[in-house]
Amino acid sequence: MIGIDEALDAVLAEVRPLGAERVPLLEALGRACAADVLSPEAVPGFANSAMDGFALRGEDLAEGRREFAVVAEIPAGRPSARHLFAGEAAKIMTGAPLPPGADTVVPVELTVALEAGVLVADPPAPGSNVRLAGEDLAPGDRLLGPGDRVGPAEIGLLASVGVETLPVARRPRVAILATGSELVAPGQPLAPGQIRNSNSFTAYAQVLEAGGDPILLGIARDDAAETRRLLAAALEQDVVLTSGGVSVGEFDFVKQVQDDLGVERRFWGVKTKPGKPLAFGVRKGTLVFGVPGNPVASMVSFELYIRPALLALQGRLDLYRPYVTAAAAEPVKAAKERAELRRCRLAREGGGWRFTTTGPQGSGILRSMALAQGLAIVPGRHPGGPAGQELTVQLLEGSAEDRPPYPA
Ligand code: AMP
Ligand code: MG
Repeated sequence: MIGIDEALDAVLAEVRPLGAERVPLLEALGRACAADVLSPEAVPGFANSAMDGFALRGEDLAEGRREFAVVAEIPAGRPSARHLFAGEAAKIMTGAPLPPGADTVVPVELTVALEAGVLVADPPAPGSNVRLAGEDLAPGDRLLGPGDRVGPAEIGLLASVGVETLPVARRPRVAILATGSELVAPGQPLAPGQIRNSNSFTAYAQVLEAGGDPILLGIARDDAAETRRLLAAALEQDVVLTSGGVSVGEFDFVKQVQDDLGVERRFWGVKTKPGKPLAFGVRKGTLVFGVPGNPVASMVSFELYIRPALLALQGRLDLYRPYVTAAAAEPVKAAKERAELRRCRLAREGGGWRFTTTGPQGSGILRSMALAQGLAIVPGRHPGGPAGQELTVQLLEGSAEDRPPYPA
């Protein structure tokens, strides 16, 4: 069996980034930019006031002049053509264009109103409180590049220079198939021995969050023919995610069916708990993941391998979750052969982090995942020990370019 790094490398080695498409700016949220985007406009587009106050010539202040005649009033959005000469000021609002001749704004707080003008009580340095044309961005400045995630700030930045559409990576289409004769969809009554299909729901949500386009193919009973029929349909997509039926049980047909359909296996089995019987292969460029059926194993497998693959398909560079080093708030239980990914919460302590596991850690206990903020990584054969032991904790949110240090 291989370790996490080796499995992740094997997955990423099969990724061929998907093509691009152009979408309206607001639809680009959460997606990966697919090209260099250069600013078509300067920001600010014109010299303007950073304060409510009085625009005037800095030269006048430098010469010691303190009283000015107010000859114009300039609200935002209404340029004034009136040139300012020595001794003249214009009342100006934040964001309003500086009038010709002026190069300085005196904030209103530093002035005293006079009968027919204004007194500068506390003169600022000439040139103060003015935002110069092009001081933030010049035309041609690079705003985004291939692989950059488009978040709210990027959307705003692009809007601020008049960009209306954006080239983004196509969303990977991910077919999701649950396997198991015991599974029923929510809304259906539970017969004795049946359980609800939750994996399809968590997978759907995880795919969406990773920028993918999830396609639910329902539930395949533990029957080779039915599994084959549904998996064959799934292979049309960019990525296939089946859950369950990939272990060594009598009714675990997924691997056999993958073989029958020409999926070239890259590995089966990773030295982790949960997530051991993960099967990964490829067929004509489609990435085929068979994740174990236990709900936590299914989610953790997604976090470790499928999420990075979906981001890589979109050309993203920040494929991994951020991680921290954290001290255990409780004694650490020993691990056997396999590395363990224990669900935990994090809190600040002193200058660092402290983690607390989220109760019982069985791979069927989805609540341990719902409560978690991170996965504490316990290397295989870790002897355990008292509280205070430090471990790497991989977060369950955010993205980073550096992979956490996984144990061999
Ligand atoms: P398997 O990997 O098929 O042996 O399944 C392992 C465990 O996970 C069994 O207890 C299954 O009932 C459960 N399981 C499998 N698929 C799902 C699913 N889609 N939703 C919830 N539990 C599941
Ligand atoms: Mg099963």
